[in-house]
Amino acid sequence: MLEVRNLEVVYDDVMLVLRGVSLSVPPGAIVALLGANGAGKTTLLRALSGLLDVHDGEITKGTVTLEGEPIHHLKPAQIVRRGLSQVMEGRRILAELTVEENLRVGGHTARESHLDRVYGLFPVLAERRRSVSGYLSGGEQQMLAVGRALMAGPAYLLLDEPSLGLAPALVAQIRDLIVEINQQGTTVLLVEQNATMALSIAAHGYVMETGSIVMDKPSADLLADEDIKEFYLGLG
Ligand code: ATP
Repeated sequence: MLEVRNLEVVYDDVMLVLRGVSLSVPPGAIVALLGANGAGKTTLLRALSGLLDVHDGEITKGTVTLEGEPIHHLKPAQIVRRGLSQVMEGRRILAELTVEENLRVGGHTARESHLDRVYGLFPVLAERRRSVSGYLSGGEQQMLAVGRALMAGPAYLLLDEPSLGLAPALVAQIRDLIVEINQQGTTVLLVEQNATMALSIAAHGYVMETGSIVMDKPSADLLADEDIKEFYLGLG
């Protein structure tokens, strides 16, 4: 279980951006984290993966535990070793490296079995393993970013807006791949603005607004409520 309890995060010592967030991701699940631009979703993921430091952010209250062990004081590499990996928004791949070089850089323990798993999930990456990554399409770059995170063999995968900027057919493809990754045993926390996509595969959804969780329900309940759909999910 990945558990966030009463988490407060401040940027630049003064700006309170997470205001006591609590959230649970049970092993084996896909959980969706929804909310408008600027709600604090990316900040929460940074806090989980130990990446606040580089953004002048800091946890000022609360805890993050993974399988019962606190991880909020750990460095990013230590958190990855504990089994939690994040796929960055904006697909921060190294454009001048080949596909395979990107995958090997991403994996802290670049194991061949992990490479095989990634190529199995994304045959297009196998075909293009020696291509320079900067020439990949947007969808392929997104797959490469997911592949890179999977190279560490994580038990928990954090995805930050994997559908951003992709055409509908590619969004459907990414959604199916997330389901497949989950079925292979990886627990997923999925941050999305595309609420329809996220709730179609997540069992449970959290909605964030200005640094707080304002809604926390099974996906079916969120989708069944017209007011929630209109006011919180932009699906009215
Ligand atoms: P988006 O979908 O646009 O990424 P989000 O829900 O992920 O939105 P965050 O990126 O976490 O939201 O931003 C939450 C708030 O924190 C915003 O007001 C943003 O301007 C602010 N913020 C984000 N990063 C920093 C930073 N490094 N320094 C100061 N403020 C920041």
